[in-house]
Amino acid sequence: MVAFATRLPATLAAAGRAALDLLLPPQCLTCDRPVETPGQFCASCFARAAFITEPCCMQCGVPFSHALQGGVERLCPGCRLHPPPWEQARAALRYDDHARRILLPFKHADRPDLAAALAPMMARAGAALLRRADLIVPVPLHRKRLFARRYNQAALLARALSRLSGVVAVPDLLRRAKATPSLGDLGAEARMAAVAGAFAVRPDRAARLLGRRMLLVDDVMTSGATAAACVAALLAGGAAAVDVLVAARVPDPRLR
Ligand SMILES: [Zn+2]
Ligand SMILES: [Zn+2]
Repeated sequence: MVAFATRLPATLAAAGRAALDLLLPPQCLTCDRPVETPGQFCASCFARAAFITEPCCMQCGVPFSHALQGGVERLCPGCRLHPPPWEQARAALRYDDHARRILLPFKHADRPDLAAALAPMMARAGAALLRRADLIVPVPLHRKRLFARRYNQAALLARALSRLSGVVAVPDLLRRAKATPSLGDLGAEARMAAVAGAFAVRPDRAARLLGRRMLLVDDVMTSGATAAACVAALLAGGAAAVDVLVAARVPDPRLR
């Protein structure tokens, strides 16, 4: 009953928004301008969106700020110093002020509908990774946080990517074995320590990943510590290899 009472206003808000959507032309993802179909940027916001394209680091997908001399540099300094455990990671957008206008409401303001807008951008950035993936698996939320937030934004992205690509998503393959503190204020080393051992493969799902190539999905990659801990759990569980696809990538904080 408590859960029903706390969920009701959000449900009504979503219903109200759906009703308004029928009356009003759809709005741009990041401003008030009308657009033709929901989940689009208007022309000026599209021009401002920092889509990550080549050249970017082959392994973590961090954008290179300039075309590198000779084009032979394929790894960023962070990946050369501390190689991550995944094969390749890609991100659709740089996590800048503009991207935050989509990603913060998606995570914290009851806007699960934004998954449908973000997934096509991710599918473009990660087309090669989706083509070779056997299964899509989202970074899990701890159940306490899932209860408070009502949905796991990474699982919504995983399902939307599955619909776009035809690759099967298994939203409950991983679980959070321990609640982790917010990583926001921690440095790279502390983040690694905070999430070490935080994730595990669900025993009743263990047979599904044996020898398979996994695509781990999340909304934002910051230091990569959370993704690395998930990848370690998948590899320990018998996955053949893991790639990572996120909506937005913070410029590599390992170098700060
Ligand atoms: Zn706009
Ligand atoms: Zn890199």
